[in-house]
Order: sequence, then C-alpha cells, then structure tokens
Amino acid sequence: TYDIQIIGGGLAGSEAAWQLAEAGFRVKLSEMRGSGEKTPAHHTDGLAELVCSNSFRSDDATSNAVGLIHQEMRTLGSLILREGDIHKVPAGSALAVDRDAFSEGVTAAIMAHPNITVVRERVDVIPTDGPVIIATGPLTAAPLAASIGAATGADALAFFDAIAPIVHFDSIDMDTAWFQSRWNKGEGKDYINCAMDKETYHTFVQALVDGEKTEFREWEKDTPYFEGCMPIEVMAERGPETLRFGPMKGVGLDDPRTGRWPYAVVQLRQDNASGTLWNIVGFQTKLKHAEQVRLFRTIPGLENAEFARLGGLHRNTFIRSPELLDPTLRLKSMPNVRFAGQITGCEGYIESAAIGLIAGRFAAAELKGETLAPPPVATALGALLHHITGAAEAETYQPMNVNFGLFPPIPGRTKKADRKKMYTDRAREALGEWLAA
Ligand code: FAD
Repeated sequence: TYDIQIIGGGLAGSEAAWQLAEAGFRVKLSEMRGSGEKTPAHHTDGLAELVCSNSFRSDDATSNAVGLIHQEMRTLGSLILREGDIHKVPAGSALAVDRDAFSEGVTAAIMAHPNITVVRERVDVIPTDGPVIIATGPLTAAPLAASIGAATGADALAFFDAIAPIVHFDSIDMDTAWFQSRWNKGEGKDYINCAMDKETYHTFVQALVDGEKTEFREWEKDTPYFEGCMPIEVMAERGPETLRFGPMKGVGLDDPRTGRWPYAVVQLRQDNASGTLWNIVGFQTKLKHAEQVRLFRTIPGLENAEFARLGGLHRNTFIRSPELLDPTLRLKSMPNVRFAGQITGCEGYIESAAIGLIAGRFAAAELKGETLAPPPVATALGALLHHITGAAEAETYQPMNVNFGLFPPIPGRTKKADRKKMYTDRAREALGEWLAA
C-alpha cells in the first residue's frame, strides 16, 4: 500500500516523489519508460532525463529569476538541484550538468529511498481512488491525455503551444505606442498598439519571410496545429496583405499621432494580472530567437523591448491551469488529483522540477492533515506558482518560464540597474518568513 501515486518519473515527478518520501510518505512512482514504452524525445529509461540541452540556465541568484529559483529549491531540499550541483560541468554563470550522470544520480537516489517504489508501467486513466500527482510532461502518452481531456474539457487541454513573444511593459515606448481596444470596445486599456506605415509594414513582412526559422522535429510534423495558431511567418509567406487582414489589421484604431486608422498595427495584450507583461497578439513563430529580437525591435514603440520570453511552436501537452487548478495545484473538479511539471504550463527543466517540488510539499501537508500556504508571490517559486494557478489569463494561456515580470513590481520609482537585486533581496526575505511560518 502507498500513501500517494505519482505518474511520470521526469523532472517534476522525481522531485515530487523525493519531497513526499523525505516527509515520510510512501510513494508509488509510475513511469512508462522501461516497460517497453517510449516518448518521441527520451532516449533512456532513466528518471529525470534531460531531453535536449544539458543546462539549467543561469545560476546567478542575485540578478536572475532562474538563478533565484535554483537557490530557493536548494533551500527546500531539492533532489534535482542536489544532483545538478554534484554533476555540474563548466558553463560560466549557468548551471549545466553531465546529463547521463545527472539522470543516473537522480535514479539511484529515488530507487534507494525506502519510501519510494518505482513501477515501470503506463497509466491510461486518471486514478479516482486516493491522492495522485500527474507529472507526465509535454509528451504525455495518448490514452492518459484523453483521460485528462475528458476530465478537464477537451478545449482546456492543448497538444501544441503557440507562444507569442512576451514583452516587459516598462520597456515599451508609450510615447509611440498607445492604449486602445479596437472600436473602443472593453476597458480601453486592454491593448497596446504599435502603428506601422506602408513602408515599415512591407519591409517587416519581407523580413519575416526572409528570417531564419527553426525546423519542426520529425514527430511534430504530423500533428495538425493550424487551427488559429499559424506562425506569423507562414502568414507572411501567403502574400504581402495576409497579415494586414489578419492580426496586423489597423481598422477601428485611431493613431493619436495622425488621428487615423494606421496602415497596419501590432497589438499587445495584457498577459498577467499586474500588467507587467504583454504578449504580441498572433505573433507565434518559429523564427530563431536572435532573429525575433532583431525583427521585433523594428516595430515602432518596441525599439528597446525587453522580452520575458520569445515566441515558439512545439508539441506540448498542457492544461489550462489558471482556470482548472486551485492554488495548491489540485484539479478543482477532482481534488484527489494534483498536476505538476510542464503539463501545468510552466516551461523548462527547472520550472518543471520547481512545480514538482511544491506539488510534493502540498501533497505531504495534506496527508498530514495540514494545509500549506503557497509560497509568497515575491519569491520565484511563489510567482511562478501564482501565475500558473490564477494570475495568467486563462483564455490565452501559454507555457511560461520563471522571470521577474511574474513578480509584484517594486513599489515607487527605482533605477533599472538596482531592480533585479531588489527583487532577489525581497524574495529571500519572503522565503525566510514563509519557512518560519
Ligand atoms: P518529463 O521530464 O517529460 O517527464 C514526464 C515523464 O512521464 C516521462 O518520463 C514520461 O515517460 C512519463 N509518462 C508520460 N506519460 C505517461 C503515462 N501515461 N504513464 C506513465 N508515465 C508517463 N526545457 C529546458 O529547460 N531546456 C531544454 O532544452 C528543453 N528542451 C526540450 C525539448 C523537447 C523536445 C521537449 C518536448 C521539451 C523540452 N523542454 C526543455 C521542456 C521541459 O523542460 C522538459 O520537457 C521537461 O522534461 C519537463 O519536465 P516534466 O517532469 O514535466 O516532464
């Protein structure tokens, strides 16, 4: 008998299992690899396999939100960070690891833990009896995905992300850009508009067509994605006017500088409750990252844009968490079920492990008959969790990395150069208070 089942032995599931086991609970960890099943991206049967890069990104905890979440996870006894630190390879200020040694280290620690039993099996239906954490990742096996779709509503489960770039509000030039909803519908501050004249528009469209793109992987090609999330460069390739009659149409908007409808427009929509992040509407893209930065900074008003994340398009199974999950990651309609990892719509190895860690801690508290308050939003872990479980716009929800745009802004006027340190100082204090409570 077990106290809890965890489905998926990736970054999130391994971390959640560790947290629960260390808290004294007996965990059954179900992992399909090793039972004859594969995913299109994993190559081994090891737990916490890194499917692509070997980097956990910045390890700088004073000026980078990723480095900060590393530090918070170390404080909370993360197995993923422990093994990452043991198996690190030189990578400047980043934390990169020897992927095989890292995965073997995690696997050995999990297998040796007296409270964890690893069962190599594919789970096809959401268990209804007893607590369970679903951490099956971006490549969740199809039968379980169908079961999740049935429990959440089919349109609340996505099989592709279609990520439009996200810009930090304070990097937008609001002397050039302006707030207005098309036809003045809504609150008036729902959109930020960046106007383009004829020449700027056509130069931009040509640059999209010529820009360097990343290719789809072989196994991504046969999943249809074209419903409403066509890459912007594919639209541009269909003809010079396509975008002007699509996401870049200028009708119903009054450029304050001319008093007229612009020839074309780029619109940004608020991406989080505090209004620090704005996504470029309809700009999902497979352009290379450097190309995106270069091109999108030619948009009037975005010359100095800082990007919280760049656009993308990948196979990625994730649920509409802001609407479906409660603040402790429980599925509102089936409270015995928690979700963790990339399937919640966080993005990245570390983010997945971080959400696994906190899911494990929430579950452990619940098994003890206690409730654990979510970590404060001023911490990196709290900010990411808060985004996933409610602060993000549910309708347009897309996977998100941890970044300072998710944090509550620092009140008052501050110098940009000081701000990152203020975020991380405040986060350390907030984590300390939460741990003490
Ligand atoms: P996973 O690590 O994928 O773990 C999920 C586990 O669940 C897997 O072991 C799988 O076998 C198992 N499973 C699935 N379905 C079932 C089932 N029904 N029953 C039992 N077990 C099941 N992030 C980065 O930070 N850097 C990168 O370079 C990077 N590259 C990526 C490349 C690809 C191709 C993909 C798809 C994602 C990439 N990511 C990257 C994103 C993300 O960080 C990783 O996918 C990460 O592994 C997610 O962690 P996870 O624990 O949520 O899922």
